[in-house]
Amino acid sequence: MRLKKIQLIGFRNYLELDLDLEESKTIILGKNAQGKSNLLEVIQILSHIKSRRAAKDAELVNFDLKEAVIRATITDKELEEKNISLLIRKSGRRTLKINDVSKKPKELLHNLYSVSFMVDDLEIVNGSPSKRREWLDSVICQLNKSYKDKLSLFEDILKQRNSYLKELTESGKYYYRELNQSQKDQLQVWDDLFIDRANQISRLRSEFIKDLAPLAKSYYQKVSGLDVNLEFNYLGQEISQTDLEETRAKDFARSYSNVGPHRDDVEILLKAIAANSYASQGERRTITLAIKLTELELLKEKHLENPILLLDDVLAELDEDRQDFLLDSVRDDFQVVITTTHIGEHLNKWLDNSQVIEIEDGKIKSNNKLEPAF
Ligand code: ATP
Ligand code: MG
Repeated sequence: MRLKKIQLIGFRNYLELDLDLEESKTIILGKNAQGKSNLLEVIQILSHIKSRRAAKDAELVNFDLKEAVIRATITDKELEEKNISLLIRKSGRRTLKINDVSKKPKELLHNLYSVSFMVDDLEIVNGSPSKRREWLDSVICQLNKSYKDKLSLFEDILKQRNSYLKELTESGKYYYRELNQSQKDQLQVWDDLFIDRANQISRLRSEFIKDLAPLAKSYYQKVSGLDVNLEFNYLGQEISQTDLEETRAKDFARSYSNVGPHRDDVEILLKAIAANSYASQGERRTITLAIKLTELELLKEKHLENPILLLDDVLAELDEDRQDFLLDSVRDDFQVVITTTHIGEHLNKWLDNSQVIEIEDGKIKSNNKLEPAF
């Protein structure tokens, strides 16, 4: 799988951009705030529908415009070309065309696969449970073609169940026992749907963690050269009517569903202790690197195609051994897009077969093939 071309109109600070990705490694070079991460964000949107940093589509559109266009050309493993055109409006409405045929916006998924590794990814280890859930969902969406729909169905029912709880408490019903029969029946309808949809999500997430755990542990051991234990446990379980009955008092008190996958977490244990409390900075980076390498491997295994690796300013964060390990893992047939503020020693090794694109103020300043300095 290759991303061959990106064209942008009015996307963030790019008024117009036309970029051919000619080599398997692309280095996006530029000073701070010139548009490097914005370019990676485009690739993230093409592969995940949403970007990790934009809460709303309006943020993606240039300040002075009403809409933005992303066009991309992708070739798959059979070298079939796919032309994607995505119109993003500040209002949030999107229009997608693939090979000039109109598609639903959600059909953007599964045309391009990518794994991104940026400083923010340390949040998988360090951050709040919601960061880990976001990460889980974004990876599983790429691995499983029905996950996105299942997740939307679950989010819908969660919203509906919560608003029904709110409606009941606002009408003065603070306890289940105060409901009349028709209210009990209505709540039962939401409960049944909630259990069904919640369990589909927790099941897929916990299966993913089971697939990820042994691979990430083995990467951790290879990268660090240490025979240490790294464990991942999905902290969530399938729920039943009894679980909902047990939390009913709390659900009524808060007008909120207190159990379900929206509250789940992943526990990461290094040497049998919680990595988010005890691991050193270097250990946390190595765990994150092991997770990213595992994502690459799982996606490759699943789709029999190599996903694109997006590295946003992270190489300098890794020591030489870890950089080498990462480079060796993606050396040949992976497409890699890297952003950096300067080509230091850490990038020299990546320069073979790479295209260096210098970005300044949302425009291409130079576009060269660089030879390694030594
Ligand atoms: P750094 O090295 O600091 O990470 P960068 O090159 O990755 O910098 P980007 O995150 O790509 O920088 O952002 C480039 C610029 O784009 C920022 O100055 C930001 O203010 C601007 N920008 C973001 N959103 C919009 C928008 N909707 N319209 C216009 N400009 C925007
Ligand atoms: Mg950046």
